Amino acid sequence: MPGDSTTVKINNKAVKQNSYDAIVIGSGISGGWAAKELCDHGLKTLILERGKDVRHIKDYPTATKNPWDFPHRNETTLALKKENQVVARCYAFDESAQHFFVKDKEHPYVQEKPFDWIRGYQVGGKSLMWGRETQRWSRFEFEGPARDNYAVDWPIRYPDLAPWYSHVEIFAGISGNKDGLETLPDGEFLPPWELNCVEKHIQQKIKDNYHDRYLLTGRCAHLTKPASIHLQQGRGQCQVRDLCTRGCPYGGYFSSNSSTLPWAEKTGNLTMKTHAVVHSIIYDEKKGKATGVRVIDAVTKESSEYFAKIIFVNAACLNTNLILLNSTSNRFPNGFGNDNGLLGKYIAFQNYRGIVTGTIDGFLDGYYFGRRPTEAIMPSFRNVCKQETDFLRGYMVFCGASRNGWSDKNNDGIGAGLKDELSEAHGWRVYMSMQGETIPKEINHVRLSKDQKDEWGIPQLITSVGYDDNDEKSLKDFLEQTSEMLDKAGCKNLVQRDTKQAPGLDIHEVGGVRMGKDPRTSLLNKWNQFHDCPNVFVSDGACMTSTGTQKSFTHFYGNYCSCGKSCCGRIETRKFVRGSKINWPPVCMLMGLTGGKPNDQLHCYTLQC
Ligand SMILES: Cc1cc2nc3c(=O)[nH]c(=O)nc-3n(C[C@H](O)[C@H](O)[C@H](O)COP(=O)(O)OP(=O)(O)OC[C@H]3O[C@@H](n4cnc5c(N)ncnc54)[C@H](O)[C@@H]3O)c2cc1C
Ligand code: SF4
Repeated sequence: MPGDSTTVKINNKAVKQNSYDAIVIGSGISGGWAAKELCDHGLKTLILERGKDVRHIKDYPTATKNPWDFPHRNETTLALKKENQVVARCYAFDESAQHFFVKDKEHPYVQEKPFDWIRGYQVGGKSLMWGRETQRWSRFEFEGPARDNYAVDWPIRYPDLAPWYSHVEIFAGISGNKDGLETLPDGEFLPPWELNCVEKHIQQKIKDNYHDRYLLTGRCAHLTKPASIHLQQGRGQCQVRDLCTRGCPYGGYFSSNSSTLPWAEKTGNLTMKTHAVVHSIIYDEKKGKATGVRVIDAVTKESSEYFAKIIFVNAACLNTNLILLNSTSNRFPNGFGNDNGLLGKYIAFQNYRGIVTGTIDGFLDGYYFGRRPTEAIMPSFRNVCKQETDFLRGYMVFCGASRNGWSDKNNDGIGAGLKDELSEAHGWRVYMSMQGETIPKEINHVRLSKDQKDEWGIPQLITSVGYDDNDEKSLKDFLEQTSEMLDKAGCKNLVQRDTKQAPGLDIHEVGGVRMGKDPRTSLLNKWNQFHDCPNVFVSDGACMTSTGTQKSFTHFYGNYCSCGKSCCGRIETRKFVRGSKINWPPVCMLMGLTGGKPNDQLHCYTLQC
């Protein structure tokens, strides 16, 4: 089977046993949303997940441990770093969370140019370890490619997605402030976290000195005040511990494991198959559509096939590209839906290389309580309404201030002096860091290795993604502008740093299967369906046409939801849904990228299922 993707086995009994209304590949953030929406609308849905099961609470072995409970006090040992030169560079990879990360040797790939590919192969995917920062895209992100003439025009705009952002925000629980800015649209927020006294001071100084820059409270997927919908999910209030990457026993932050997956399970429509490595998608030439997927058991290496009327590919950006490139047939000899040869190309990411740190005098009578699990943010202020610098697009700025501990004073670190110092908070330190938009380019691509395979006989992925001159100029501007802002706020000892980190470590890679209006220049339509095979949907980051300066979480979800309109919209309601009518928030939710109103009824067409 693997190796001949044109073969379609005929075993009617197995076909019947392994048939579902919908298949979702991957159970991470986007797959969890897809499954929830499909199940909510009565579709018998199979999730195929290559990793092991991770049950909410039960499978968070380190969630309540103290530093002294870990063999190395929660530090990453030199030996572990040496063995894992890629993943150990991720800030969240430590003794407490390492079991959720893919180790370097487990799933090798080929780096034609340095690329730190950070992955989580388990039920829940990276939703367990993510940073939970969630911002809506604004109209400026959607309009960017057309205005500045790069990539292709997005087939959707902010108003298409806005209702789906709301749909996702309400269910997931996003805390934030309504700031009334066009560059960072407001959403359906739970109460915001509070900035501390130094952050408020910097916020005021920026307001005094600039007419176009705003430092805001971060928006994040934490339950500051759970609503009824969150209690129904069995989730509770965030306890401000900031130990989230271990999995949260309170369900204080959004993860697939705490939210969408158990919700989908409760409908009775979900089947989850773990250790199921999807090899490729089966395309039936006679029917002119995809009929299922080929799977290899991660443990036994046995192969099998699963069938459905619609297939959602949600394996995370690069793995989605891999599966599609590996899905060859007579109809699609170069990869699934790849008539125009663009599959795997125009990969983009976010530029995280810039950071400026410093100190600020005073405020020694000011403190904060708990470990607030988010930071302050400043939406992009560069090239927003028109081109005004020597580089395209802009960057979002993260900012935070905290008090130093005992080591600040360079004491002996022993005896009574140490004890006294431990009970004192010391001076303040501040930082600003960068999240820059990068321009999708054809040369930034992934492809399959012709000679290197993984343990399951699947070709390894080659990553060929790098920075360009635009990224260097944007970085320079960030360092200058943030230093100026911190200086105006009275900060001292400013240090500018280029981390020189490789692409990938931002963990925001997108593209390769981009959406667009024209099948000659894009792979997916505005509903996230393949132009050439509408019963296959891609609703993770792979579908994104450009990367913007905001994080993508709500974008994926909203996008998914909106693409739900197409999906559910294209499902023959009468034949498909085991209830009466579908409302289309379902599939549309995740990707939020399409259009329509949340309560539009799904009407179907294409899939004569
Ligand atoms: C430390 C960290 C911090 C982050 N911070 C933020 C943040 O603050 N805000 C934000 O928006 N994003 C953040 N991200 C990124 C965010 O986690 C991802 O964008 C998001 O998880 C992507 O969702 P996904 O469903 O596409 O992929 P994932 O969540 O990675 O899920 C993909 C799933 O597919 C499975 N899979 C892969 N290949 C196959 C296959 N062949 N067969 C079957 N299953 C397969 C995987 O095992 C996995 O479970 C962060 C990520 C990390 C790791
Ligand atoms: S900070 Fe909140 S979400 Fe994170 S682990 Fe603590 S209670 Fe859970």
